[in-house]
Amino acid sequence: MGRRKRRKGGTLKDGERRQLARASRHGPAPLPEALVRRNIRADIERVAKAGTYPVVFEDLEVFASHAPFELHVTPQAIAGGFYRRLNGLQGHNHTYYSGAAFHSHNSTRIWNAAEVLLKSIAA
Ligand SMILES: Cc1cc2nc3c(=O)[nH]c(=O)nc-3n(C[C@H](O)[C@H](O)[C@H](O)COP(=O)(O)OP(=O)(O)OC[C@H]3O[C@@H](n4cnc5c(N)ncnc54)[C@H](O)[C@@H]3O)c2cc1C
Repeated sequence: MGRRKRRKGGTLKDGERRQLARASRHGPAPLPEALVRRNIRADIERVAKAGTYPVVFEDLEVFASHAPFELHVTPQAIAGGFYRRLNGLQGHNHTYYSGAAFHSHNSTRIWNAAEVLLKSIAA
């Protein structure tokens, strides 16, 4: 994405600027990659056409799917002790776990929990 057409394989001239932007797509279920790519392009072109921002879609520089994301269990499973059993795995076979499955999709919480976990292992 950029203000000017990029020459494939070429370098930028003095004063020429290329802008990169991050776009993400979310849905209740994994979406086909081709559809996501098309939608991102269509959104950027709509912004350009409306004149909201002087942007030109050239290509997707990097594309990565994060699906499946936010895997979760049912309320019934939680009530039935899912997290009690999950946390019960900590230390079994000298193995410890960390990540969103144990907390939530929040990096701060995950790092804080890892710090607590490391201290408990060292104690
Ligand atoms: C687009 C996007 C934006 C986000 N923005 C934010 C934000 O602004 N703030 C925030 O707090 N959170 C954000 N999150 C959420 C955050 O990134 C996650 O909650 C966090 O990374 C989860 O950590 P994790 O360790 O559980 O999993 P991950 O970070 O996904 O780590 C899992 C690792 O395991 C590796 N792996 C997977 N399978 C295997 C295998 N079979 N063998 C070996 N390795 C394997 C993967 O390559 C990966 O490195 C964002 C997530 C996404 C997708």
